[in-house]
Amino acid sequence: MQFSTEYESAWADARKKMLITRTGDWRFRHPVTKIAKCRQCGWCYLYCPTGCISPGDSGYFRVDMDYCKGCGICAYECPAQAIVMVREEVD
Ligand code: SF4
Ligand code: SF4
Repeated sequence: MQFSTEYESAWADARKKMLITRTGDWRFRHPVTKIAKCRQCGWCYLYCPTGCISPGDSGYFRVDMDYCKGCGICAYECPAQAIVMVREEVD
């Protein structure tokens, strides 16, 4: 299935505008997806407040860690509990 939310509206390019501030610097934890549990529903993609989740060629979704702020909303909203939040390693 090709996942797409492209449409024409004043907010059609909102995702592009959100990916400006590198909110990855705020993060103390990050999401990890358990691929075996993922249903490829795209819920995480729709809910991510920074727009840093995007559809991959394989049908699964990937996170751009430069913009992931570690809020955990994707993990909270995932209907398959396929995403777990993992603490960042501290040097
Ligand atoms: S919300 Fe969960 S099940 Fe749906 S695509 Fe994202 S990781 Fe997969
Ligand atoms: S934790 Fe999930 S919802 Fe939050 S910014 Fe990162 S990818 Fe997006």
